[in-house]
Amino acid sequence: GQKVVLITGCSSGIGLGIAVMLARDEMKRYYVIATMRDLKRKDKLVEAAGDAYGRTLSLLTLDVCSDESVKRLQLQPEFICVFVVNNAGVGLVGPIEALSLDDMKQVFETNFYGAVRMIKEVMPDMKRRRSGHIVVISSVLGLHGVAFNDVYSASKFATEGLCEGLALQLLTFNVFVSMIEPGPVNTEFEIKLMADVSKKEFIGADAETLHHFRNCYLPTQVNLFQSLGQTPEDIAKVTKKVIESPCPPFRNLTNPLYTPIVALKYADESRSLSIHTFYHMLYNLGGVMDVSVRLVKYLTPGWLRRRTISPV
Ligand code: NAD
Repeated sequence: GQKVVLITGCSSGIGLGIAVMLARDEMKRYYVIATMRDLKRKDKLVEAAGDAYGRTLSLLTLDVCSDESVKRLQLQPEFICVFVVNNAGVGLVGPIEALSLDDMKQVFETNFYGAVRMIKEVMPDMKRRRSGHIVVISSVLGLHGVAFNDVYSASKFATEGLCEGLALQLLTFNVFVSMIEPGPVNTEFEIKLMADVSKKEFIGADAETLHHFRNCYLPTQVNLFQSLGQTPEDIAKVTKKVIESPCPPFRNLTNPLYTPIVALKYADESRSLSIHTFYHMLYNLGGVMDVSVRLVKYLTPGWLRRRTISPV
């Protein structure tokens, strides 16, 4: 029969992309429960889903930051989830001395505790049934730190740590855990962050740090999204491939250009190599593309193929 997939944060971006791709599966293998905080924001999803809406896609309200909202889910027995995609997430950029602890806690509340809350809700039943698959939309920033994204990155590292522990515990229950690790993806995520940055004064940061942030980091970031940015559909394709795999891989990069950057960490135990590479990228000593392209050329294509799932 149809497999039920519950997805969080579906009003935009990657969540919307995954919901639509699965609901429009040609063989109708999936029944998608697309959730979002506010159903008033459903129009984009409903439009993109077309005639799948009401057939293989239904909507529910869900705020991953609220215990009550997650408890209220109380899925009917026919809606036993086979897959749960934890996608809801928020970003935060800027020098940490100019960011409030409340803002930082909100990032953890959504990205980390939001995933924990959902997993706590669905996992016991998956264990009882000895079947299920928990998918978490992490990020390459769950694998390496990037300047001025320190707290966001920490929230994704935390999620990766959580899931790495769970993945091995759940194997005996035939329940799988997978992380999807996109690089830059062109969604509202980046637009919201940039709008936020243009409003903030970042009081508390010194002039030199602010200069690095505004004149080195921000332009590099814009360039990165323009040159390497993927689409939500790219991420949806990788996610679909992962949930369709008989033995789902735990870590899944979506952008092959990031494979060598991530590999740098493992190539050098002290980690200085990756820190210095990022330093060069940030202060544009070689240019982002330059460094990536050089790294890609350096590592053989065969090695790349073995290490990534390339979008089909
Ligand atoms: P997005 O802003 O379009 O989507 C995030 C969604 O999460 C939004 O619809 C938002 O309303 C929702 N959300 C936020 N807080 C929520 C809450 N408390 N409860 C329910 N929903 C909530 O951005 P996106 O790029 O599609 O981001 C999706 C995921 O992908 C996030 O976890 C993000 O960290 C991750 N990611 C994004 C990028 C990127 O470059 N865009 C890269 C790597 C990973």
